[in-house]
Formats: sequence, structure tokens, C-alpha cells
Amino acid sequence: MSSPWSKVSNEPVQTINLADIMSEQYAHRLHDQELKQQQKRQQQNQTLPTAKPINAETYSNIASTSSKASQKLPPSDAGQWEDYSMLLNDEGKEQAEPLPASLLSLLEDEAESDAVIAQMLQSQFDHEYNEELRRIERQQNKQSKVTVTLNKFLRSGDAEFLHDTEAGADEEDDELAYLKQDWDCFETNEKILDAIPKCGFKLDKEGEMITKHDPQLCGVRNAQRVMSFPPEFPTGDGACFDMKLSNKVFNQLKAYSRRGRADRKEKVATAEMGVDAATRLLLYKLINNQILEQINGIISTGKEAVILHANSDASYTGTNEHGHGNGVLMPAELLPKECAIKVFKTTLNEFKQRDRYIKDDYRFKDRFSKQNHRVVINMWAEKEMHNLMRMQSIGLNVPDVVVLKKHVLVMRFIGDNHNAAPKLKDARLSDAELSCAYEEIVAAMHKLYNEAKLVHADLSEYNILWYEGKCWFIDVAQSVEPEHPSGLEFLMRDCDNIISFFERRGLPNIYTKEQLFEFITALNAETHNAAMLERIHTRGASINQATVPNQTECPDELKPLEYPFELAWEKSLLERQMRQEEAERNQEARETVDEAIDQSETKLSNDTDNANNTA
Ligand code: ADP
Ligand code: MG
Repeated sequence: MSSPWSKVSNEPVQTINLADIMSEQYAHRLHDQELKQQQKRQQQNQTLPTAKPINAETYSNIASTSSKASQKLPPSDAGQWEDYSMLLNDEGKEQAEPLPASLLSLLEDEAESDAVIAQMLQSQFDHEYNEELRRIERQQNKQSKVTVTLNKFLRSGDAEFLHDTEAGADEEDDELAYLKQDWDCFETNEKILDAIPKCGFKLDKEGEMITKHDPQLCGVRNAQRVMSFPPEFPTGDGACFDMKLSNKVFNQLKAYSRRGRADRKEKVATAEMGVDAATRLLLYKLINNQILEQINGIISTGKEAVILHANSDASYTGTNEHGHGNGVLMPAELLPKECAIKVFKTTLNEFKQRDRYIKDDYRFKDRFSKQNHRVVINMWAEKEMHNLMRMQSIGLNVPDVVVLKKHVLVMRFIGDNHNAAPKLKDARLSDAELSCAYEEIVAAMHKLYNEAKLVHADLSEYNILWYEGKCWFIDVAQSVEPEHPSGLEFLMRDCDNIISFFERRGLPNIYTKEQLFEFITALNAETHNAAMLERIHTRGASINQATVPNQTECPDELKPLEYPFELAWEKSLLERQMRQEEAERNQEARETVDEAIDQSETKLSNDTDNANNTA
């Protein structure tokens, strides 16, 4: 093949037909002719003019590094490259300076050399690019506590053609190992971390102790942990993972990654406020069912409940458009204008509070853990409703219950024009009023215990409202029957709270807490502690039996009873069931009587008709 750089022959071009041109034999013939011509020229010019030293030094430098090219190119006497550039420039002298055979083969390789040069230039570029990246990396890591690596972005052609073959081979190996190591880094790190035994340290190959607090290891561990941040936190992938994070940085990142949880937190917060989505739905239903017109805002947020203020719907007629009463427990005309909505909190923390009434009762714990969260909360709301109704039935001042929906209890609002009645502790009472309040509370406690068979169990100046010159008792969800294992203890505590309050207010001539206790229960609190009283109370034991000094001497049948979960609760459920059954029976009886009357009336009118017809 002739060199593409050789001169075009001046011989006239012969006309040849296409079939000839396409013929292979013709091509061979041409080739042979050309070769002969070259040989002829060779004989005429035995030698080439003396080669000049290379003038393009950079070019030769680059070329000298090319392994392929350097092997093939014959070195000149001076060990330098021969300059053939003249061949390119010297057009007119072509005939006078024919190419030697060695040069011909060299020129044949020339096309390949172009590719090599291009590769070398690319390699040079990659090298400079990578150097720049490494410089940035060094600078970055110098100032920062977070070590980063930009290896991922290195260009692959770095120095591939710029070094000696031997060094190049080493480099290649290194590069391979490097890449491999980078990709394995995540797992390698994990292995290192896992290798630390439970005791928290291990010895390395040099016998040095590595603890789990080793800063290097901590950095790696922190970086690993970052990978398990929530999906919305961009951590990148595990490839080329070679990052170390100090504890401080990690903690900040962690805090940042949790920012997205604000929303969730807010939801939890609303749940704590007692108005989570489920509650809102219930409230919405109350409005939709024309029981309430609007909910105005929060009256109080306690540990266990949120109290909201609402206006009832003036258009409520007792039934909604579907003809249902919606569970409203009073006739439409008695529906209070202003209502208080008690929303029992549904978060777990609140159970801890309520738990105090039952925490010593291991039976409760059992049942409690098995109970569905919400069901238990609903039970508390229902219990408050029952207790309020029971207290109202014996004439105590308590808010009337309007309606109960799951954990939402709607009752009369004690107060007017959106102003809640003050708690007894906040009420400004004259001496006479204070005395009245005392008398009223003592009488109410007595009645509660003896007629309603209840102990408030959280009675204090906080749970009594002062309204229209009277005491109103609220917050009775935790109230228990006196038979409750701690019933008498609770009662004693109630007595203590009440007496302490009036003592602080300086009301003269009042009971001591023991006297009040005795007045209510007719049991002597000074000589009998609560446990003993409990035995008397619940087992009907004689004072002598119940007050034996040594517990072991106490007969088994007088030892504290094993109560089923919430005795009072179950009892009230039973009572309710019985009442319902009785109501159903009465209803049936009424219907039978009505039917009988109807039948006799029909018969009577038929008889009369018949008689008339006959007449
Ligand atoms: P908690 O369990 O949070 O103590 P309460 O039933 O005691 O719940 O109610 C908390 C506060 O809400 C009361 O101290 C009182 O100020 C107000 N409150 C509760 N019920 C009513 C009501 N029916 N009318 C007016 N205010 C009420
Ligand atoms: Mg309260």
C-alpha cells in the first residue's frame, strides 16, 4: 500500500472501465507497477539527505513515551528521532527525494501513531483533571471534619500513556486494587466494626488495642449509620464509600434528618391535645348531627383530657333527619346552650396517670395489656358518664351528660357566656360562702359514699367548680365504689385534700380528715388503717379479726380480696345490662298488652257492626 503522504504522480491518467477498476487483478497489477517505480527511484537516489535533529521537542517527548511507536521506529545515530516533517512540507522535491523502505513501513504505521497521539493527549488531560480533583480533595479534607473522597469522579485514562511500561503495569495493578477497595469499602468497614467483640476492644496485628471508641472506627460507624437515614435523606449510594464522620457531625446530620419528622411530631402533638384525626371526625359528626353548632376552643388541657367549649345547635329537635336521637341523653328542650366537651387523651402516657388507681393491682395490668388502647380509653369516658349520672340521680351538683361518643363526652358547661366557672381553689369566697362550701362538700361526700356508693378518688379544690353560689363536682372518671381494694385509701386522701384546703383558707371549726372519714364511713380511721378497714368493709370481718397486729395471724378469708378488673366497672356493666333487659321485658309486656287491647277493640267493633247489621 502506498503512503497517503506520497506525491501524486504526474503521469497522464489512463481511462479504464469500471469493471477493470473493481477487478482485484487490476489492483495487483497497479500495485506491482508502483513498487517497480519505487525501486527504480531507489536506485537513482541511494541515500536520503542527512536527517536533521528533531525540532518539535514536545512532540518527540510525547512520542518517546509511546511504547508501541518507540518499538517500531528505528532510532537515528544520535539516538534521536528523525525529522520527517519535511516530507509533508516539501511538495516540489518529491521526485528528487524518494523514500527509503524503512521509512515506508514507518509511514504505514503513521495512521496508528495518530491514534496513539490522541490517546496520549487524552491521557495527559485525564491526568491533569485527576490532579485537580486530588488537589480539591486535599484542600477540602484539610479544613473539614468530614473526610470526603472524589475518587468516584476520577477519569480512568490517567497516566496510562505517560509512564514507562513497568511503572504502568504497577500503576494498573494499584488502580485495580484501588477501585476494588473502594467498592468493597462499605462491606469492609462493616466487617471491621463487626469484628470488635462484645467486650468492646480487640488487638490488631501489631498487638495494638482497638476499642469501639477508636475515633477512626467511630467515624466509619457514623458514616455507615448515615446510610440508614430515612429514604428522603439523600445519602448517596454505598459505592466508593470511604467517608468518616465525627460524632459531632453525625449528630448534627441526624438532627437534620429528623427535620422531616416535624410533621409527624405535629400529628403526635395534636394527638396529645386530644384532637387527633379520629377525634376531629367524632366532633365533626356531632356538628353534622345537629347536636352541636360550633366548637369554640379549649377550656383546659390537662394530663388526661382536653376540655373544649361548644355551643349546642338550637335547631336540634331530638332526632336528626334520619329520625335518630344520636345517643343524646336528654330531651331536646333541655339541651344546654353551652357545652363542655371532654376529650380523653389517647396517648399512652396518659395511662400512666390513670394507672395510679390500679397500678398495684396485678390483675389489672394483665387485663390492661390485653386491652386495645382505644377501648380502654372509651371505657374511661363511659365510666365518667355513668358516675356523673349516678351522682346526679342522688341530687348532687354535677354537669348533665349530653352525649357520649367513644372517648368524647359532651356535658353541660358549668359557667356562662363562654366563661367557665372558677375552680374552688380560684374562687373568691366570702367567709360565709367558704363555710357554705365546706358544709356542702361534707354533705356531698357523705351522700356520695352512702347513697351513690362511690368514692370520688380525686376530690380536691381542683375538681370542684364554684358556680351560682354552689359547688359542682367534676372529673369523676376515676371514681370507684368503696369495695375497690383501694377505695378507702382514696376516700382518706379525698378527706385529706378537702380538710387541708379549708384549713389553709382558715375556716374554723372543721373536721380533721379522720373525723370526716369517720363521719362518712362510720369507721374509725384513727384506730384502723386503710387495709384493715378494707377487710371490715369488704368482708364484714369483726374489728378484732381485722385488726390483728400480725398479718400472718389474719385468717385467709380476711386477707385482701382478689378483685376482678375494676370491680365497680364490671358491676356497673352488669347493672346496666340488667336494667336494659328489664326495660326490654317491660317493653315486650307493654306491646303484648297493647296488642291485646287492640284485638279486643277490633273484636268489640266487629261485634257492634254485626249487631247493627243484624238489627
Ligand atoms: P382533667 O382530667 O384534665 O383534670 P377535668 O374534668 O378536671 O379534666 O377538667 C379540667 C378543667 O376543665 C376543670 O378544672 C374545669 O376548669 C374545666 N371543666 C371541666 N368540665 C367542665 C364543665 N362541665 N364546665 C366548665 N368547665 C369544665
Ligand atoms: Mg381535674
